[in-house]
Amino acid sequence: KKITIAIDGFSSTGKSTLAKQLAKELEYVYVDTGAMYRAVALYAMQNGYISTDSFDKEKLVASLPSIQLVFQYNAELGFGEMYLNGENVEKEIRTIEVSSFVSKVAEVSQVRSKLVEQQQEMGKNKGIVMDGRDIGTVVFPDAELKVFMTASASTRAQRRFDELQQKGDDVSYEEVLKNVEERDYIDTHREDSPLVIADDAVEIDNSYLNKEEQFAAVMELVND
Ligand code: C5P
Repeated sequence: KKITIAIDGFSSTGKSTLAKQLAKELEYVYVDTGAMYRAVALYAMQNGYISTDSFDKEKLVASLPSIQLVFQYNAELGFGEMYLNGENVEKEIRTIEVSSFVSKVAEVSQVRSKLVEQQQEMGKNKGIVMDGRDIGTVVFPDAELKVFMTASASTRAQRRFDELQQKGDDVSYEEVLKNVEERDYIDTHREDSPLVIADDAVEIDNSYLNKEEQFAAVMELVND
């Protein structure tokens, strides 16, 4: 029987790696909700609504109806890629620049309600793995399986730093660590749907677990 799997947790805890593995193994649909918030942040950046020293929330809110977000399935990758108003933005949304604005954009209630509604629509049929911050608490409070992933900030920063370096992004470890800590702070302190662990979520601290061990642990829960 197909179920809904919610994977929440702090940034760079390996949520998407685990979620993709699960989706592949179970033949479920994978939805990366962080990509949606990132695409809205990219849109805000491209239109000059957000920069390092300003954020025009009203303009962003007013333009929400003209932001179209679509996951287009890429058979080679085995999951959907993020399209913003018809354009593939997978690369652009993963930069450190977008990472530095995304949590501010994700604090805006109107942004959250638009995206949550779309996520609920995408997951209305069972057989879905969705990762984010509020999936088990807000988007699918009735999900059959909820996983909450944690790891120390330094472990996560190192992981993100390695990824960015591989892509040739010129950032320092300190800059990445600062961004991880800033996002943790904003994500856990925002008024609307702060990042909290659902009462019925299983917590996985992956500072000491490798990918295979995490996957095996969650597969056991799925088969329970
Ligand atoms: O998962 P990822 O790190 O790509 O998410 C980027 C940011 O989007 C998070 O730091 C958080 O601010 C926001 N986010 C959110 N709710 C979600 C998914 C992401 O607020 N469900």
